[in-house]
Amino acid sequence: MIYGLTFPLESIPEEGVKFDEEVDTGLLGLSAQNWPPLSRVYLAGTLERTGEHEALFRGRVLGSFSVECSLGSAQFDLVVDEEFAVYFQPSLIGQTESGGGVELGERELEVCQIENGRIDLLNPIRDQLGLGIPIQPKCPEKCLGDDPDLCYRLDRGMGVGMDSKRDLRWAVLGNWGKD
Ligand SMILES: [Zn+2]
Repeated sequence: MIYGLTFPLESIPEEGVKFDEEVDTGLLGLSAQNWPPLSRVYLAGTLERTGEHEALFRGRVLGSFSVECSLGSAQFDLVVDEEFAVYFQPSLIGQTESGGGVELGERELEVCQIENGRIDLLNPIRDQLGLGIPIQPKCPEKCLGDDPDLCYRLDRGMGVGMDSKRDLRWAVLGNWGKD
């Protein structure tokens, strides 16, 4: 379990720090975020020094949001799994450079300042998890599964599977033995 997300730059060994652990969700300050309940946050990756005053984290973060289907009332766990990379630079340089996303090699990197000699993974992790929250979640079992209208009918208070006029499976049973 990870109980802290800030690391003194000086404490990062040459070979880097490897993460492959669950993160204490209390670290994420979620009460200030208007997010659905989040659990089972997991961080994997490597934090390395790329120079005397800079560092790079590459890895992925996973988490499970408890969300309500946008089409109805079903509650389900939505697993977010985001790969990301963050470049940490000294704050002095940040004042003269753009500070936004910079292209360093293969993909867009998030750029963070090193404050008081410390690397802080909190904001990048929170950004990635937040990006993973869908605007209109759809539940996998019903709306994205075999019965795309089930949630909607639940929400409207319509019969689910009991209304022979609306449900083909019951219509078939209704005709049973009529021949
Ligand atoms: Zn649904």
